[in-house]
Amino acid sequence: MEIKKIGVVGSGTMGNGIAQAFAVAGVSVVMTDIAQAALDKALATVAGSLDRLIKKEKMNEEGKRAALALIQTSTDLTALSDCDLIVEAATENLDIKLKLFAQLDQIARADAVLASNTSSISITKLAAATNRPAQVIGMHFFNPVPMMALVELIRGLQTNDATYALTEAAVAKVGKTAVQVRNSAGFVVNRMLCPMINEAIFTLQEGLATAEDIDTAMKLGANHPIGPLALCDLIGLDVQLAVMQVLFEGFKDPKYRPAPLLVEMVEAGYLGRKTGKGFFSY
Ligand code: NAD
Repeated sequence: MEIKKIGVVGSGTMGNGIAQAFAVAGVSVVMTDIAQAALDKALATVAGSLDRLIKKEKMNEEGKRAALALIQTSTDLTALSDCDLIVEAATENLDIKLKLFAQLDQIARADAVLASNTSSISITKLAAATNRPAQVIGMHFFNPVPMMALVELIRGLQTNDATYALTEAAVAKVGKTAVQVRNSAGFVVNRMLCPMINEAIFTLQEGLATAEDIDTAMKLGANHPIGPLALCDLIGLDVQLAVMQVLFEGFKDPKYRPAPLLVEMVEAGYLGRKTGKGFFSY
């Protein structure tokens, strides 16, 4: 099946980025949210992001107009009834997503694929909330979507090959690279990245080195473009803590226990860049 029209549910940080990626690739997009204000903000975000591409000479005004013209918005999920693929990027909450998947299953065309951008919820569980579990898959985009080249495609226990093939083609269409991952807590990237950041926080807590030196060590000694503590500030300490809790709960293995310093900093409201203070000040 060729992907001509996609739906995006939730127009926040990830949803508007996903909508932009498909519209720039020439695919019609229907972006939905519960709030009209969220949709208005999302369209403004996409326009601003396209303006930055124009400044960098990666796009022209005509390209911007064409991309924006491909994005339709609605607060009504039934607007997704003729989409080939629907990517759910609503708030990370199990009850919200289970309800959405049951609703989307009723609304979407029988041959449509339902994907979730969830970072931590079981795709197998979301698939089981529908009558088309073989046509449910995870499409885990990275933030910021227009910049990041990877999409993890997460196969639930029920996902069939045709569903995987369709989403693999969708990832290629937006010029990104897919990796195939089995449903498991943290998938591949967060499973490795977040424990590394957690270990950096343990080294800081134990007084092994200063925050500056820990980051310098990993930048120059491991050739990382950004130090783990600065990266944690960028991701948000609350988000890092949530991922560690998912890994710890998912595997019941103490190696994933969140560093106590991380827990305490989140309690203090030191969430990183978004609050102006984390391991570094902004
Ligand atoms: P966000 O809070 O920026 O946006 C979520 C949007 O969903 C909001 O606009 C909200 O109004 C809307 N929403 C809530 N309930 C809804 C419903 N029932 N129907 C339609 N819309 C609804 O969140 P986000 O950061 O964009 O995250 C979205 C998803 O992407 C989550 O599952 C998250 O785990 C995942 N994710 C986030 C990141 C990231 O770095 N932010 C990275 C990868 C994956």
